[in-house]
Amino acid sequence: MDACDVLIVGGGPAGSSCARALRLAGLQVMILDKASFPRDKVCAGWITPQVVEELQIDIRDYARGRVLQPITAFTAGLGQHAPRSVHYGSAVSYGIRRCEFDHYLLARSGAQLRLGETWKGMRQQDGRWLINDHISAALVIGAGGHFCPVARFLGAQLGKDERAIAAQEVEFEMNEDQAARCGVSAEQPELYFSEDLKGYGWCFRKGNFLNVGLGREGNHRLSEHVQAFWRRLQAQGKVPVDASAHFKGHAYLLYSYARRPVLADGVMIIGDAAGLAYTQSGEGIRPAIESGLLAAQVIVDAAGDYRRERLAGYEDKLLERFGPREGSALLKQIPTGVRLSLARHLMQTRWFTRRVLLDRWFLHTHQAALRI
Ligand SMILES: Cc1cc2nc3c(=O)[nH]c(=O)nc-3n(C[C@H](O)[C@H](O)[C@H](O)COP(=O)(O)OP(=O)(O)OC[C@H]3O[C@@H](n4cnc5c(N)ncnc54)[C@H](O)[C@@H]3O)c2cc1C
Repeated sequence: MDACDVLIVGGGPAGSSCARALRLAGLQVMILDKASFPRDKVCAGWITPQVVEELQIDIRDYARGRVLQPITAFTAGLGQHAPRSVHYGSAVSYGIRRCEFDHYLLARSGAQLRLGETWKGMRQQDGRWLINDHISAALVIGAGGHFCPVARFLGAQLGKDERAIAAQEVEFEMNEDQAARCGVSAEQPELYFSEDLKGYGWCFRKGNFLNVGLGREGNHRLSEHVQAFWRRLQAQGKVPVDASAHFKGHAYLLYSYARRPVLADGVMIIGDAAGLAYTQSGEGIRPAIESGLLAAQVIVDAAGDYRRERLAGYEDKLLERFGPREGSALLKQIPTGVRLSLARHLMQTRWFTRRVLLDRWFLHTHQAALRI
């Protein structure tokens, strides 16, 4: 029998960040993940400087033998309109590869690792949880991403009645010839919003790796949108014509639309499993990490008493950090057609692209790193 204070199901950014904070506070922590690491995760791999600060990552150390691509500018376009370039002059974000980033965070967490083992079930035994019939824990944290089994255990209707973002992505290393011909600058990711504003595609170069993807509300004709986007990038010389497009798909919830339970006696849910990705950009790594750190703080304060009422501060902290789940009531009163044409007009102005779309929605510069 294995025993720990806290068992975390899922070793992605949410799980490993929470584990590290709990370990630093002296708790016995175990991470269970069905994958063996390093493992890949469908993701563009873009992180903001606040993530680096929150996790106290020494970027020089991280960059040794790993991809860390500084981003100093963006190209942003809408439909067939001419895209705009916005230059910042210094690094405002970074590109990472999830197979490297997640492995680094997991190894650094200091938790005991049970990798390659799937969560199969859990039940109460002598006031503790017994997971997979061989791990005993006082508290279980669900950090298993969008399809987290612990979230399902708490009653989340995964995939049913949930307004999810469906996305497809491909990441590959270009050979020397492809890299020389690639028309995308590594410091300047490109974002292309669809005319109906239901999603966007990206083309993001990280050193010699190229990451191309597209995410939309719902999965109606997603593959068609992805293929059309890929062909357009090829025609523009941004993607090598001889590169093959083995896209992988994944879904996730945006904060405003997610309604999953995040708490029960002896159970907490963090990261994508709780539906926390920023509504406008889909950035999910930062909220996943922040929820892990907030959960850890509540757990430490609970001092071994993990009844729901002792953990309730977690819900308050999420609300305080991310705001109410509902979107603006005022905006909802404006008819969709008017909202769309206003948004299309704004997105073609330099001011809106820089100050609102990039600074506020994508870089979240108005919200400083979480300090705990
Ligand atoms: C196409 C795409 C592009 C994205 N691009 C970005 C981006 O550029 N920047 C950004 O900030 N966010 C991005 N996101 C969102 C981001 O990927 C997620 O928000 C983030 O990975 C959430 O982290 P997490 O730790 O909650 O979950 P995950 O990273 O999904 O980790 C969950 C872990 O749980 C494990 N697990 C799952 N089920 C079980 C089980 N039954 N038993 C045991 N283990 C299990 C998995 O193996 C996995 O390791 C993107 C998402 C998509 C789909």
